[in-house]
Amino acid sequence: MPDDIDRAQEINEQFLEDALAEHRRRKPLTVADSALICIDCETPIPEKRRKAAPGCVRCVECQTLLEHWRPL
Ligand SMILES: [Zn+2]
Repeated sequence: MPDDIDRAQEINEQFLEDALAEHRRRKPLTVADSALICIDCETPIPEKRRKAAPGCVRCVECQTLLEHWRPL
């Protein structure tokens, strides 16, 4: 039954693609994902903050204004 084998292969490939996409979505943010300058005031974001808040795009001041900043 070659048709069934083909379909099983297809489903398997689709499953792998979904798993890879899911993995990419879940990739943890790193300091490399943090912005070098604040997108709001264009102040350089300190390395310390970029490391402390991976993926951040604002300086502490702007982030605080945007939402109540809660240090972990
Ligand atoms: Zn700012």
